[in-house]
Amino acid sequence: MSDTNNFSLFNPSSEHKALREMILDFVKKELEPQALEFDKKEEFNLELFRKLGQLGLLGLLIKEEDLGGSNMDLTAMIISHEELSSSDPGFCLAYLAHSVLCGYNIYRNANEDQKKKFLPGLSSGEKIGAMAMSEPDCGTDALAMKTHAIKKDSHYILNGRKMWITNGCIDNNKQACDYVLVYAKTGEKISSFIVEKSFKGFSVGQKIGDKLGMRASNTAELVFENCEVPKSHLIGEEGDSLIHMMQNLEVERLALAGMSLGIAKRCLEIMNKYSLERQSFKKSIRSFGQIQKYLAKSYAEYQSIRSYIYNTARQMKLEPSKNHRLDCDAVKLLAGELGKVIADRAIQVLGGYGYVGEYVVERLWRDAKLLEIGGGTNEALEKNITKELENL
Ligand SMILES: Cc1cc2nc3c(=O)[nH]c(=O)nc-3n(C[C@H](O)[C@H](O)[C@H](O)COP(=O)(O)OP(=O)(O)OC[C@H]3O[C@@H](n4cnc5c(N)ncnc54)[C@H](O)[C@@H]3O)c2cc1C
Repeated sequence: MSDTNNFSLFNPSSEHKALREMILDFVKKELEPQALEFDKKEEFNLELFRKLGQLGLLGLLIKEEDLGGSNMDLTAMIISHEELSSSDPGFCLAYLAHSVLCGYNIYRNANEDQKKKFLPGLSSGEKIGAMAMSEPDCGTDALAMKTHAIKKDSHYILNGRKMWITNGCIDNNKQACDYVLVYAKTGEKISSFIVEKSFKGFSVGQKIGDKLGMRASNTAELVFENCEVPKSHLIGEEGDSLIHMMQNLEVERLALAGMSLGIAKRCLEIMNKYSLERQSFKKSIRSFGQIQKYLAKSYAEYQSIRSYIYNTARQMKLEPSKNHRLDCDAVKLLAGELGKVIADRAIQVLGGYGYVGEYVVERLWRDAKLLEIGGGTNEALEKNITKELENL
């Protein structure tokens, strides 16, 4: 029962609190110890990823138990992204692509047979999922996509290339993930399909290496060459998926904002602790006004974006039929910028130590940059927000 006097925006129920504690325990014991190693190796820790299934995190937003769901809400989604990302944003990005971009998209838009076929494996972690929208020649301008599907007998024939696909491959041998939710043109309209890794004509073009950050997640180019997709793998009706894409982008942006929040939180903790211990000119560096400015501004900005993100998740729950595009765009824009700025300040407070991997903040700073690009660039969000504001 909720007690309004004790209401917490960040842990609104005992289930949310327990979820956060469980993830913090996982982070401390399993995620943090491997984070720097997998960043350096530029590898995806598949074995550890599958454990998220045992913890109930992969089907977090799915209601039904028989589909592997944990029946939680968007606040829980923020909690999981915030806490995982506070330790290992790359690993968390793989989690987002699998659970939100692929699994939750299927859950919201697929038919019952498709849900029964694909979701239990995705929720348990036995199968790995991805979502493919971006292409070599277009990202922001998603509607310019060239990938297309043509109906032929009992199949669609899919042709095109998809670029930057998180989880597109799961190892260095370019082994494809199990299921990719692919957006493609059918005539002038957008449809989406679930492509299985065994489908003829589907392959991984390349594992994209040498990334600045998010190195613990795999990013791949995917190739579809006369790929035969059974009609049973079309999601919804043909031409229906622009709305699926737009709705999923809202949730994606909220989750990405949660990731930036996790980065900001960790960087604030690290710079705060460091400045308590570090001396310069026989004084604590905390006594210097410039260091105080870094700490104070980071705290104030972290708290304000934290409230905005959790409040947006709460509003989405209270008004599920309303379109929440404006605030999902706005939280991602603001959190993306603040995550990077606060990570940058943390490096500055740590001086030379901030510049090396062992002290964590350099990795978080590199990871934070992606959150100004992926899932909608800052510039695209600014345009969207301005347009949405016309309707206020
Ligand atoms: C590590 C990583 C993981 C990713 N994971 C996925 C994934 O799982 N699935 C997926 O589908 N995609 C994924 N992406 C792709 C990502 O969403 C795109 O990179 C992003 O949407 C930007 O598209 P683009 O790279 O083609 O840049 P472009 O769209 O070409 O943009 C280039 C520049 O032009 C600006 N610009 C473009 N149009 C406008 C405009 N109208 N007004 C003002 N400025 C504009 C942009 O803001 C940007 O600064 C991933 C990318 C990376 C790097």
